[in-house]
Amino acid sequence: MSRSVLVTGGNRGIGLAIARAFADAGDKVAITYRSGEPPAGFLAVKCDITDPEQVEQAYKEIEDRHGPVEVLVANAGVTKDQLLMRMSEDDFTSVIDTNLTGTFRVVKRANRGMLRAKKGRVVLISSVVGLLGSAGQANYAASKAALVGFARSLARELGSRNITFNVVAPGFVDTDMTKVLSDEQRQNIVAQVPLGRYAQPEEIAAAVRFLASDDASYITGAVIPVDGGLGMGH
Ligand code: NDP
Repeated sequence: MSRSVLVTGGNRGIGLAIARAFADAGDKVAITYRSGEPPAGFLAVKCDITDPEQVEQAYKEIEDRHGPVEVLVANAGVTKDQLLMRMSEDDFTSVIDTNLTGTFRVVKRANRGMLRAKKGRVVLISSVVGLLGSAGQANYAASKAALVGFARSLARELGSRNITFNVVAPGFVDTDMTKVLSDEQRQNIVAQVPLGRYAQPEEIAAAVRFLASDDASYITGAVIPVDGGLGMGH
């Protein structure tokens, strides 16, 4: 059955791999992007998730073309790394506004249709960093840890409506976000990962697609690590 799927930040990196995985399975996939040319093959909707108006407009367009969103993957996210001493108010609040409040905005809007349909799947993309912490990433780690409490609260609030909320916590993945790391930082990270390498975006997408599938019908409030063993024990 072809479902209406929305992947925020589906124009590149992990989001694009997730969008492709759903499209390959026959779903109707909408992606959001902020600038540039979005990839072909999806309903691409321009939307900055820090702007509630743009979120509302994006949903209207998606609902017109694909019907209410049945599967939401809240993937869009940013980093603004800085040691606490040098972290500005804006470094902190802008990361929270995108990664946490932006996720709140898109989840809240998707919920309307899911409540009416009495079913829905929501997957939030967190990070191993939200569970382990990371020097220089207090803003990012706080935003990603918060997604766990957010998802688990909604799992309790909306479980009776047949809507599941799960979190995927990737480790280090080969995308633009990690390309900024130096070779030395990269080697240090890989040395900590039991599987001894970065993930490919498709390896994150596989877990997301599972959580949105019928095979995961009894899974909600879970945090699924896809991190090569980096965060074991958390
Ligand atoms: P990229 O930097 O490659 O892509 C980030 C995506 O988020 C882009 O599509 C970007 O859109 C979108 N985005 C950022 N800010 C906004 C905004 N305000 N409104 C709408 N879209 C926005 O990152 P990754 O693919 O690596 O990361 C995807 C998710 O996975 C993020 O949440 C990240 O935190 C998480 N993650 C990544 C890891 C990694 O190692 N790469 C590890 C763990 C988690 P645009 O192209 O328009 O800028």
